[in-house]
Amino acid sequence: MATVKVNSPNVTYTEEYIESKYDYQTSEVRNGPDGTINVTPVTTQYTFRTERKVPKLGVMLVGWGGNNGCTVTAAILANKHKMSWHTKEGLKHANYFGSITQASTVGLGTGPEGEVYIPMKDLLPMVDPNDVVIDGWDISSMNIADSMERAKVLDYNLQVQLRPHMKHMRPRPSIYIPDFIAANQEERADNVLAGSKKEQLDRIRKDIREFKEESGVDKVIILWTANTERYSDIIPGINDTADNLLRSIREGEKEISPSTLFAVASILEGVTYINGSPQNTFVPGALELANKKKVFIAGDDFKSGQTKLKSVLVDFLVSAGIKPVSIVSYNHLGNNDGKNLSAPQTFRSKEISKSNVVDDMVDSNDILYHDKKKPDHCVVIKYVPHVGDSKRAMDEYTSEIMMGGSNTLVIHNTCEDSLLASPLIIDLVIIAEICERIQFKTENDNSFQSFNSVLTILSYLCKAPLVPAGTPVVNALFKQRCCIENIFRACIGLAPLNNMMLEYKHQ
Ligand code: NAD
Repeated sequence: MATVKVNSPNVTYTEEYIESKYDYQTSEVRNGPDGTINVTPVTTQYTFRTERKVPKLGVMLVGWGGNNGCTVTAAILANKHKMSWHTKEGLKHANYFGSITQASTVGLGTGPEGEVYIPMKDLLPMVDPNDVVIDGWDISSMNIADSMERAKVLDYNLQVQLRPHMKHMRPRPSIYIPDFIAANQEERADNVLAGSKKEQLDRIRKDIREFKEESGVDKVIILWTANTERYSDIIPGINDTADNLLRSIREGEKEISPSTLFAVASILEGVTYINGSPQNTFVPGALELANKKKVFIAGDDFKSGQTKLKSVLVDFLVSAGIKPVSIVSYNHLGNNDGKNLSAPQTFRSKEISKSNVVDDMVDSNDILYHDKKKPDHCVVIKYVPHVGDSKRAMDEYTSEIMMGGSNTLVIHNTCEDSLLASPLIIDLVIIAEICERIQFKTENDNSFQSFNSVLTILSYLCKAPLVPAGTPVVNALFKQRCCIENIFRACIGLAPLNNMMLEYKHQ
């Protein structure tokens, strides 16, 4: 049951659905021959239909025993069991800080006392992360309690309380193809599937079905939080179409990566698949397969720290009329992710994913960038074991200001990487799940449809948002957040937030 009830002739509540009639307003722009820019407001009437029954959700993590995998599992259990623990700074309580659905609020409108804010999770009937059942795979056989200890992320007193809940959690054997990740990962790989690619694919599909049956969940979502892989080559005839990809898997082609095999298994089981790492899991054949099967896919790469700030800061600078000309980002980290990224091929995947994040902002301002020259943008990542999961990110932004002046901003960011990524994992699965229950149609459609199989609403959480062909990529963080908030508002028949506050602007 949603806690918000909208009183409007455009919104109806039945036992099964919330249905809203919604005017979607856009503008069509055409350049006239005389240099005039002609703008025509367009209104399209949509009907949104949201299923109200909240399912029991199962989440399967690929890379469950990694720092993110065990930390998100621990965080959910600590919240579920309302755990508290002492540190040298005093008593701490489990929370979901960093999750937009659980720990951020949205303005609903004005009440007698002024603006009313509610948790984003209360806009629509969403899954409570405390009720999520977690399972997954890892090439390392370590149980999730020991993984938590290996990760060195959570306070010891919390680990002690969590251990009994986690020591029986064992990752399922996974697909290990050494060529796709750094050679330094080999020592971890003691939990790997034998057999051909086709047999491995079938085994993953069986795992999904078995988990669903054994746990009694209504639906499953799969999320890759395993090591960053190198990019796969896109080879005509091998992975360029859905049919070629499926045939290549049957024939054991070399260039099909473990992550693509997981994505294909997931799609064939009708299960949403989210990629939290930068590699090109979604080769054209996988994209086509998801589209054909109408299964959601989303990615790529969690937008957790440095890039998140970058997509705020550059948006601020460019929209303030200031011209960033150089962005230099250094990182050093000492966790297993950093170790894996110390190989050139896996680093390259990360470098690509981090490199395009300012493009939409630069492209939006032809006054500053009339010469089409993008800012210099350099990304360096180094592995320094001592700092563990506590990643350091140092960024220098140099911008041109008025009359040839120059402005340099320097940011130093220190933070446990997995405590930034874990709330994102929660948001990704919770928002993906509610999207599975939203359908819509326009006045010209006969029947309802779901969102496109490439779930761009998750862009807020992704460093390199995957979009369907021809769709503009949005990296600017607050635009991405507005997209989520306004789509949820549309589902309950509320106009998009406009921040005009006209009601306070009368004489
Ligand atoms: P990690 O190295 O601690 O965990 C990865 C886990 O994946 C390991 O346990 C490893 O054994 C396992 N693994 C490797 N290949 C596998 C396979 N084929 N199948 C199943 N398991 C496999 O790394 P992490 O810090 O948890 O990060 C996970 C991923 O998330 C990395 O790719 C990282 O680049 C990405 N990421 C992390 C952040 C963040 O932590 N803030 C942000 C963006 C992206």
